[in-house]
Parts: sequence; structure tokens; C-alpha cells
Amino acid sequence: MPWHFTIDVDWVPGSEVGLEGLLDFCDRRKLKATIFVAGRFAETYADLIRDCRRRGHELGTHGWEHGSLEKDEDFRSASYDQQREWIRLATEAVEKASGIRPVVFRAPSLWVSETTLRALENEGYRYDSSVPARRFDCGFGRVHYLKYFRAPSEPYHLSSYHLSLPGHSSIIEMAPSAFLLPTNMATLRVLGLPVMKWMVRRISRRTSRLVFYCHPYEFVHSHRQSFPRNMSKWNMQGMRPENFSLLDGFVEHMMRQGYSPGLFADSFSKALAS
Ligand SMILES: [Zn+2]
Repeated sequence: MPWHFTIDVDWVPGSEVGLEGLLDFCDRRKLKATIFVAGRFAETYADLIRDCRRRGHELGTHGWEHGSLEKDEDFRSASYDQQREWIRLATEAVEKASGIRPVVFRAPSLWVSETTLRALENEGYRYDSSVPARRFDCGFGRVHYLKYFRAPSEPYHLSSYHLSLPGHSSIIEMAPSAFLLPTNMATLRVLGLPVMKWMVRRISRRTSRLVFYCHPYEFVHSHRQSFPRNMSKWNMQGMRPENFSLLDGFVEHMMRQGYSPGLFADSFSKALAS
């Protein structure tokens, strides 16, 4: 069974240490990752982004300055022109750093809309991984809207009328996996490996592939990084290098379950051949 190991690189100065650690982790574990990068990070740490590509990872974009803002980039409500501008700037920054034009997108905080789809199509994107299917963060987290709750958990071509419907867009959606809560590093940190294993089991009954994500800042002590004031306290307290061993336990589990890691660009031509 395929799974996608993805990394959301927010624009957080200090978190580059975490990304370096994640690249070494991937080498050790022979994992190829899909790495979504905020444009300003790619601009500032261009050598590191080039290194991601050199090590065989796939690069996408993740907003322009997302991670450093008090009022975050919101792709649910921003105008078409504003969204296109954020995407264009991020695309150029990642292309300049890596030499390859990214075609995979993940919206900051999974805040996405039909307007985003139009902007992505016009910037030449091919894949998106932003729709919060089956996701609703009770109390903590950032997804408190249910508009796309019923979206498919399998890859599908998006509809320009509603992102939770299959349609005729050239862009293929592969939603980050969730069982109310997401299969991500924050859930692993807060609820632990046994709960994550249970979630993976539940999700695998419904879908043939799984998308996991983590952030470089989760592997660096918070006082060594610059966050906006609205970053939540529970999140900051749990940031530490020791999280690599937690992640290692999860990856070990996935391998044992027979999941094999794949990149977006290689995966979906077969899955959607019909
Ligand atoms: Zn992010």
C-alpha cells in the first residue's frame, strides 16, 4: 500500500535545523518525501531547498509567508488576485532555489477554496493536498470548518464547483489523511503511537493510501525559533529533537504494515487510469 510522507515547511526562522534533521532521517529510513515549502523560506534557505531536491525529494509550495504572520494567509477568503500572487511568488522562490518548477500545493493550515483551485490551474499546478477530508479538530488544531468533511479520501480530479466533489479539473487532489484528527506529527506527539496506530487501521479500511505530515519546527526547541505571538502554547511546549524517535517508531510501524512511501508525481497516473 502506498503512503505519502510529507513535510510542511512554514516560514519559521530557526526551523531550518529541523529540516536538516528530517532530511537525514529520510536518508536513514530510505524515505522519499514530498516537501511543501513557504516561499520566503525557500528564498532565505535556498541551499537547503536545493539539497532537498539533490536527495531525491519532491518539492511543492505552501504559501508565501505562512508561519511568521499574526494574521495568516487565508486561501478560503483571499481574493483570486491575492492568492495567485502568493502562489506565484512561492513557485518562483522554490524554482529559483531548486531548479525545478513545483506542481504540488498544500494550503497553509489546510484553509483552501474553489478560488485556490483556479489560481493553481493558472499557475500550472498538477496536484493538491489541502482538502481537510474527514477532519475536524475539536478544541485544538486549525481546522474548524466542515465544508469539505465529506471529500473523498482517495485521489480524485477536483470539481471547480465544490472541492469535495470529483470533477473535471486537471488538478488531482490527495487529501491529508484524518480520522477527525489528522495523521500528523502533532497527533503523534499529543496522543502517542498507540492512538496513531489505531487511526491508521481505521483509515486503511476506507482508503488505499495514506498521507502523513510533519513540520520541521516540531523537532527544534521553541526558544531557538521565531514564532508569531499567536502560536499555541501546547504546540510550542512539545517541540524538541527527541520527537525524532517518536517519528521513527511511527515510520517503523508503517513499514511493517506493508506501506511503501511514494511521491505525488509518480503515484496518481496509475491510480486514476480509469
Ligand atoms: Zn503550514
